[in-house]
Amino acid sequence: MEEAIILNGRKLADRIENELSKRVEELYIATNKRPKLVTILVGDFAPSVTYVNMKKRACERVGLDCDIITFNENTTTDKLLEKINELNNDDSVDGIIIQHPVPSHINEQHCFNTVAVNKDVDGVSFYSFGKMCNKEKAFVSATSLGIIKLLKEYDIKIAGKHAVVVGRSAILGKPIAMQLLNANATITIAHSKTENLKEILQQADIVVGALGRPKYLQAEWFKKGVVLIDAGYNAGNVGDIDLENASEIASAYTPVPGGVGPMTIVSLLIQTVESFEEKITK
Ligand code: NAP
Repeated sequence: MEEAIILNGRKLADRIENELSKRVEELYIATNKRPKLVTILVGDFAPSVTYVNMKKRACERVGLDCDIITFNENTTTDKLLEKINELNNDDSVDGIIIQHPVPSHINEQHCFNTVAVNKDVDGVSFYSFGKMCNKEKAFVSATSLGIIKLLKEYDIKIAGKHAVVVGRSAILGKPIAMQLLNANATITIAHSKTENLKEILQQADIVVGALGRPKYLQAEWFKKGVVLIDAGYNAGNVGDIDLENASEIASAYTPVPGGVGPMTIVSLLIQTVESFEEKITK
């Protein structure tokens, strides 16, 4: 079998960042303003702190303004809602993200749903998700947008293929499943209660690992020629798929790191710039 294609998210994200920087400079020349992304971070969960800082550095590379607003882990849903409403009404803010996960006493989905739809650049509100499901224009989950962009970049055929998404979270599993469905794949969504996961995976042309369990999905569970998208990111820089062995079976795969992660961040930036552009043309 031919060697697997590495779906290089880092390379594609770098190219998109370069294009975006030029677009942002032109916008700055025209308006004397820059698109602004605000991230709300609750608590000091180490991976979340890392992600938030990675997003800030990416904003700086592209010329976007970026604020990180931190809350103590004991904060309340009401305090967060107050801040989100303030940001919704702040005309200088184009994108708002609440870093997932927040502590369990917070009503995360209520916070997500409070973000103004035109600033919901991670597509996390019910309204944005519902629009996307119905193929209406909306901001979408940045990770799922990044995955679709990567598949398109490498001309991976989606229409008619059987895609198995392992994981059904609101921020990742469900949105990528719906985006693949919109691209005319046939979808199976697996989760922790799924029986016969290995048999289901044997039928998959495309697998998205989105379960958050290091190297859980094993090479021998896949059929030859499968396309593997590893969205997982776990301690030790490893994904959800045992890629060392699976890369010999796959026709294409995303490395970890350097696959889905950079595409997620650049997709957030793309949607923040689009939000700014819509604002200035109103
Ligand atoms: P999550 O909210 O914890 O959801 C995990 C999902 O996986 C749940 O639906 C769960 O099923 C399912 N699951 C857990 N164990 C399973 C098993 N043994 N078999 C089948 N399904 C199983 O996680 P998440 O926020 O979606 O994140 C998933 C992974 O993606 C994490 O590694 C995270 O770090 C990574 N991630 C990466 C990016 C990126 O930019 N690369 C962005 C977001 C997330 P139930 O619903 O039944 O509990």
